[in-house]
Amino acid sequence: MNFHDLGLIDPLLRALRAVEYTKPTPIQSQAIPQVLQGKDLIGCAQTGTGKTAAFALPLLQRLYESTRDRKRGVIRVLVLSPTRELAAQINDNFVAYGRYTGLKSQVIFGGVGQQPQIDALRRGTDVLVATPGRLLDLMNQGYIRLNTIEIFVLDEADRMLDMGFIHDVRKVISALPKARQTLLFSATMPEAIQELANSILINPVRVEVTPQATTVEKIAQSVFFVEKQNKRALLEHLLADAAVRRVLVFTRTKHGANKLAEQLDRAHIQAEAIHGNKSQTARERALANFKAGKTRVLVATDIAARGIDVDDVTHVINYDLPNEPESYVHRIGRTARAGASGIAYSFCDVEERAYLRDIEKLIRLRVPVAEQNPYASDIPMHVIQTHTKPNQGSPRGNNNQQRNGSYAQRGNNNNAKASPRPRRNNNFRRRENANA
Ligand code: AMP
Repeated sequence: MNFHDLGLIDPLLRALRAVEYTKPTPIQSQAIPQVLQGKDLIGCAQTGTGKTAAFALPLLQRLYESTRDRKRGVIRVLVLSPTRELAAQINDNFVAYGRYTGLKSQVIFGGVGQQPQIDALRRGTDVLVATPGRLLDLMNQGYIRLNTIEIFVLDEADRMLDMGFIHDVRKVISALPKARQTLLFSATMPEAIQELANSILINPVRVEVTPQATTVEKIAQSVFFVEKQNKRALLEHLLADAAVRRVLVFTRTKHGANKLAEQLDRAHIQAEAIHGNKSQTARERALANFKAGKTRVLVATDIAARGIDVDDVTHVINYDLPNEPESYVHRIGRTARAGASGIAYSFCDVEERAYLRDIEKLIRLRVPVAEQNPYASDIPMHVIQTHTKPNQGSPRGNNNQQRNGSYAQRGNNNNAKASPRPRRNNNFRRRENANA
């Protein structure tokens, strides 16, 4: 499959040759034909999968094919992005892919003077890439009207939620024409994003690039069953080992990340937190300290961690297990970068056992139970059964055997089926989202 087979036109194929893309990525092969047909789309993919081209290419083509007789320079595509870096990057992509189409793209974001942006908009643009705050500002001042928008893209929807932009996003959406094509991209699909998607998309096609389970195989994983109140003591115990040198610790909430970083710091373990409530500068500083080895432990939430690209992370520790199993793969993939092997520890309290089961289903491995756990909680019978190969008496068997025991092999194991279903009632999830 190449870009030509996806139905892209010549001016775009030329641009793709110029940027030296030879083969579409999975999300591009799936999304481009659908978007070309004018369909609404929900894309589960994170940055790095090629998702920007997956929407930018077909949208440029739709504009190109229908603008020939029309006045150019009226905003027809709006892309909303949570951060200025991402917005600038998306705009760069539109410019690069659209270089032979004559179509124009502009970007606006906060933190810089608005006048140059207003001047650029006056010259006219077909595509506008914007962060929500600056867009609303310029709309309120009468510089931008959205009544000519034909296609709307909401990028990194989960991050919008995490950064507290969701109300602004809704305001922008309410100013858009009802008849339009809408695309929504999000790496994870928390309930609030699913609800938003349901309210703004019409019969969407869903495209998903699931993390490669094979990438986790290089990582030595283990799970520590531990009571919630003992998690911190267990973490400090693990950190007493100097080999646990550069550590990324994940918590489920921003508050949890702050609290843990403070507690570690008080215990004389250099730690910093990184999450969506911190300013860009604070995040960059925390990351730089971590990279330079000044901070030994970086405590992060999933979304903040997405941009973290640090080599030589010796350990990833899931202080809280993620409720989205895909996040587990993204998290532990932060160690074992560039072919290195890595170590991932996961703490699992009684309320998180259902999450562990979901993770194991996704990765098709049973995460071995840690051999050395001074804070081990009592493991109830059903967990022992799900962590033991049939005919194997103890949950603490050898790792290789356990690694090979996939869920598929366990298909006829009645004990596994008899375990309680994941605890996922609405109240429980809503509480998590409020804290996320
Ligand atoms: P994105 O997920 O959109 O942030 O893209 C990640 C990176 O992959 C960007 O640097 C793109 O320029 C690059 N990229 C996107 N599509 C392709 C492709 N088909 N071939 C090679 N590189 C690509």
